[in-house]
Amino acid sequence: MATYRAPRGTRDLLPEERALFERLMGIGSELATRYGYRPFETPLFEQAAVFERGIGETTDVVEKELFRIAPRTEEAESWALRPEWTAGIVRAYVQHGMQTWPQPVKLAISGPIFRYDRPQAGRYRQFWQFDVEAIGDPGPAIDAEIVELGLRFYREAGVEGVEVLLNSIGDPACRPAYVETLTDYYRRHAAALPPVERNRLERNVLRLLDSKDPAMAELNEAAPRISDHLCGACNAHLESVQAHLTALDVPFRVEPAVVRGLDYYTRTAFEYYVAGREGQQQALGGGGRYDGLVQLLGGRPTPGIGFALGLDRVALVLAEQGSISAAEDGPVAVVVGADPDDTVIRLRIATQLRATGLRVRADLGRRKLGRQLQAAGKDGAHFAVILGDELNAGQVQVRDLLAGTQRVVALDDLARELARADASHRHG
Ligand code: AMP
Repeated sequence: MATYRAPRGTRDLLPEERALFERLMGIGSELATRYGYRPFETPLFEQAAVFERGIGETTDVVEKELFRIAPRTEEAESWALRPEWTAGIVRAYVQHGMQTWPQPVKLAISGPIFRYDRPQAGRYRQFWQFDVEAIGDPGPAIDAEIVELGLRFYREAGVEGVEVLLNSIGDPACRPAYVETLTDYYRRHAAALPPVERNRLERNVLRLLDSKDPAMAELNEAAPRISDHLCGACNAHLESVQAHLTALDVPFRVEPAVVRGLDYYTRTAFEYYVAGREGQQQALGGGGRYDGLVQLLGGRPTPGIGFALGLDRVALVLAEQGSISAAEDGPVAVVVGADPDDTVIRLRIATQLRATGLRVRADLGRRKLGRQLQAAGKDGAHFAVILGDELNAGQVQVRDLLAGTQRVVALDDLARELARADASHRHG
């Protein structure tokens, strides 16, 4: 018999880690609401063309990492699992005529993302992101609002030492000349380029700057920098973003190597790192402005900006920094009994308590009462509700497993008593 495993590059989120993800997504959606971003959902898959056209055919994400769904013979459409959010969200913006809504349209979403990447530590083929997008505002103030929102997410999640790297990658007015300068530079060094990069040189030279190949490090370090080639408008935009960030007390560093991997970015690009871990694979999150994307996907020219923060990497960093707090999701009480055939009454009492909002487990096995009490203790339960002869008088024994005390409580008072005692224990 074969032993089955989760597919390479994917993992199961066991209850403890799932609880952490739940908490992170909760922080994200609460923050999003606080900042005026509304919850939203797109399908896990889209027409492949949304990504091919939106992200760019010569990007790693489309060229190598797209999880394509083989078309069924009777279907003409070719689909792919979403490898990022923005293209799908912009597709939805155009499809639903959101340009007629009050602008900017501010949306927030979190969930799994799929990339057929080479798996390694912190790099998975299915991973989770918290994403926000503000479509319809040319900035630069909103650029700073978004950068600050991301940083606040890390703070509230308890990640220490996160820094913001900021850059501008120009716009259609100034990027073409820079791309030409950059192409000339790499052509002069073509012999030193790994085959993949040499192949990309003529098609999408910006990609070389964020190459993951270590052989490129030195060459990229000495490459012409976009910051020396920005047009007046892009320069002014970048300066204004910086002024807004400074006013918001957001610490940041301008870093010309932040070019982002996707074609649609214009002007503002940013990434979040834990200080001292700026290696290629270690970005905690990133985002940028995409002023040409709405038009590219069939809408009216509309500016936009957003970020995606990787939750798996936040979980890794929290574990490294030793700051994962255990979730408080154990039962408040476990209902136990000496009679193995009294499961109807055990379950009924547990159900009544649950209906009042208490976390309650009913022990439905046939083991001895002592074992049931032991198990309740291991569960982290505060109380055991013990069913016995007192039931005839409408009463049960309640044992405080933490204090080691026990008393008789009327069934009518049980829910109130448990809730009160548990609350006073937690707050006292
Ligand atoms: P990107 O859009 O590639 O910049 O991704 C944004 C964030 O998502 C990154 O900074 C990472 O935190 C996370 N991320 C990207 N790719 C992966 C992956 N393969 N596995 C886990 N997290 C990822």
